[in-house]
Amino acid sequence: MAEVKPLVAGNWKMNGTAADLRELDGIVAGQSGVACDLAVCPPVTLLAEAVRRVEGSDVLVGAQDCHPETAGAHTGEVSAEMIADSGAKIVITGHSERRADHGESDELVRSKTEAAWRAGLSAILCIGETGEERRAGRTETRLEQQLAGSVPDHASAERLVIAYEPMWAIGTGLTPSDDDIGAAHAHIRGRLEARFGVAAQGVRILYGGSVKPANARAILALAGVDGALVGGASLKADDFLAIAAAC
Ligand code: PEP
Repeated sequence: MAEVKPLVAGNWKMNGTAADLRELDGIVAGQSGVACDLAVCPPVTLLAEAVRRVEGSDVLVGAQDCHPETAGAHTGEVSAEMIADSGAKIVITGHSERRADHGESDELVRSKTEAAWRAGLSAILCIGETGEERRAGRTETRLEQQLAGSVPDHASAERLVIAYEPMWAIGTGLTPSDDDIGAAHAHIRGRLEARFGVAAQGVRILYGGSVKPANARAILALAGVDGALVGGASLKADDFLAIAAAC
């Protein structure tokens, strides 16, 4: 298995106005001692200014969603090309809040991910089971379905990151056991390698769901965990940097 540099990515969700970019400034100021790649995904209103603030640093800026089409009559939507035009390098696709709140299917997530690649962005594609699916022993089946349905052909480490985010762990303070995280990541890795062969070897598989400074070291040390997708704890520079320092 090839060595990969971990990635810690922050998803600000629908949080943040211009004043909150001071937290991004704090992340830029504190990133030099960090051994992993860092990305911050603020709301789309802040993208261009966020890109300006990270100039000259290694911090990447990403968006949280994109439309599959390049342009057109889709009021309120933002295309991957528009995101790339802002200077952002990444987009999150298939976040469970979009799958749940907007009924996004695996097929739509796949087309959004293809759009990201078309625009030259790399995608952080989220998958994960519900609490009910886990209790019913259907976690691996669900992950397989989501990988088969959401991940486009021709995936590579340059343009794909998978985020394993159990839906029941997001924003709840709950996390799976170390064994369960390890098993899910191993399963995802196995499916990617079965489909993409060596091209999948460097694809990073992040864990997401209630990652905090207090649990980051243990989670990031698990075999098969190549970083974290962080929601709530990414809103404060100190917390986000404390998580990144655990890599
Ligand atoms: C997320 O929404 O991707 C997430 C991981 O949220 P939190 O860290 O707040 O659980």
